[in-house]
Amino acid sequence: MVLSQPTDGTRWRCTLCGNLTRFDVTRTSRVREYVHLDLAGEPTVEEREVLGDRVESVRCRWCNAVDQVELVDRPDSGS
Ligand SMILES: [Zn+2]
Repeated sequence: MVLSQPTDGTRWRCTLCGNLTRFDVTRTSRVREYVHLDLAGEPTVEEREVLGDRVESVRCRWCNAVDQVELVDRPDSGS
């Protein structure tokens, strides 16, 4: 099952309990980081570019349903 990620105008909603706000999201990301180390060798990530991002599963924090989310319009989306 391919889960659609929320966009500027949509959000997730649990189809079982209606939860809109709390989810455990398992995702795989490929990122490129600009790591800047100071003279002591302590690294700081100064830039992070997301090369790829895929949601593997979404679990509802209220009812523990897995991958039972749908996309619904955000209340403030203009359209
Ligand atoms: Zn739920």
